[in-house]
Amino acid sequence: MTLAERARRVIPGGVNSGQRSIPGLTDLVITRTQGSRFWDSTGREFTDYHAAFGPPLLGHNDPDVAAAVAAARASLSLTGVAVTEGEVLLAEQLAELVPSIEKVLLTSTGSEATFHALRLARAVTGRRLVVKFQGCYHGWHDAVSLNVISAPDRIGRPDPTSTGILPEVLDATLVLRFNDVEAVRRAFADHGDDIAAVILEPVPHNVGALLPTDDFLRTLREECTRAGSVLVFDEVITGFRHALGGYQEVAGIVPDLTTLGKAIANGAPVGALGGRADLMEHFSSRPGGPVFFAGTYNGHPDVVAAASATVRKLREEPVHEHVFRLGDRVRRELDALYRRLDVPVVVTGFGSVFVTYFMPGPAPRSYDDLLANDASRFVGYRRRLVEQGVFELPLNLKRSHLSYAHTDADVDRLLEATERAVGAML
Ligand code: PLP
Repeated sequence: MTLAERARRVIPGGVNSGQRSIPGLTDLVITRTQGSRFWDSTGREFTDYHAAFGPPLLGHNDPDVAAAVAAARASLSLTGVAVTEGEVLLAEQLAELVPSIEKVLLTSTGSEATFHALRLARAVTGRRLVVKFQGCYHGWHDAVSLNVISAPDRIGRPDPTSTGILPEVLDATLVLRFNDVEAVRRAFADHGDDIAAVILEPVPHNVGALLPTDDFLRTLREECTRAGSVLVFDEVITGFRHALGGYQEVAGIVPDLTTLGKAIANGAPVGALGGRADLMEHFSSRPGGPVFFAGTYNGHPDVVAAASATVRKLREEPVHEHVFRLGDRVRRELDALYRRLDVPVVVTGFGSVFVTYFMPGPAPRSYDDLLANDASRFVGYRRRLVEQGVFELPLNLKRSHLSYAHTDADVDRLLEATERAVGAML
């Protein structure tokens, strides 16, 4: 029996997270990672553009991060009391770097960070409703587990990503169209007094890349301020990846709360929730502190060491310059290639994130624009890349990532593999 078959005997579906089981790749067993690469149990080598859904911005097994974690491990493990110097230094750095963050708490995952953001918003406002946007993903918990990738007939009504969620929980989340200023204004006109929070991925990367208009982000900021609702930027993907200050730094819009995860520790299990001090102070665990916050592994020394080493490297080395240059090159040259082959596509993204939609332009602005994407071509193209050792996740609408470890030679191979893959599809 193969390892993958043994996995399916004892692990539901054979994997430990939704969307790790890929049709056509159910026998894949990963054995090693390094830099821009991973290897499977048959010895096949892949250039990794999936990048674990986003964390390794510096590349897999970054030596500086690994050394920092090893050093921390040699001297400090989790005690579960008080605080460590590393936690203080990391919190100080996050508060310095991210415009909205005055105070910050660490979690082990992004889902925990968004969960606590929404609980806090409901606690401080005394209100019920959360606004999210079709196409955005904020983790697995009930309040936001709806309307990510929806079938056309499920748009415009609650579309839970799981069974087992109470209808009253779904009813407490309003789902709006991304980049739709009018829909936002209407929601606030109709329900403003009951909106506790608006949560969004400032760039919805869970469906590839929908770039926000300035007007949209400004409207969210204005409406939340006017109504007394809490604006939450979920920067679990964009935080550190698009700038050390997150996409809020790029856009010049300051939310009330920010959630972080993934790239801030280059692959160590991390999440963070930060924001306005007056809001975050509600988490104070002094007796009588009104909002409960806890987690055995929060601020784990290994994770704090990984995050601190990641921050240091991002500040000291031209990481963003490198990944933005490679990202621009990938988008420009893929676009030229498809034009030459006369295949209508939209190649888009931001910085180190890129995606090719198999649809005519212009670039999509909301999830419903993506219904024009030819899902079977999207997945078929990626399957042909994977056959050539270029790993872009063969699932519809998934984005791809570049890291500091990717090189121009990697990009050359991606372009060559694309030409062959698309040639075979014509
Ligand atoms: N928010 C966003 C934008 C995400 O992409 C994810 C995960 O993909 C999460 C939250 C949840 O993070 P985690 O998987 O670490 O719980």
